[in-house]
Amino acid sequence: MRRVYSCDSVPMAWHIRNILEEHGIYSIVKNDKLYSISGEIPVSECLPEVWVRNSLYFEYAKKIIEQVESENIEDEDDWCCHNCGEQNYANFGACWNCSVAIQARE
Ligand SMILES: [Zn+2]
Repeated sequence: MRRVYSCDSVPMAWHIRNILEEHGIYSIVKNDKLYSISGEIPVSECLPEVWVRNSLYFEYAKKIIEQVESENIEDEDDWCCHNCGEQNYANFGACWNCSVAIQARE
């Protein structure tokens, strides 16, 4: 297990994870739940992190993330979860927070 990414946004961490998965890299998001109580512990200790399971993919994952960060993320297709109200990126098929699937749009 190796950490490839950390940021101050849980949806962004999940966005990165989804993209890594699309490239066949198995990864997990850590601290995505802790973030909600970040008011009580130093933020730097509970930032969402993305970890790759296999260290062999570390460099590859880093490259992908660099690419993602250099691209401007279009937010016009972002959607709000109808169940919990959290913001989700357009490429999420289900809410990162409560796993409810995206509501069909017209
Ligand atoms: Zn939700």
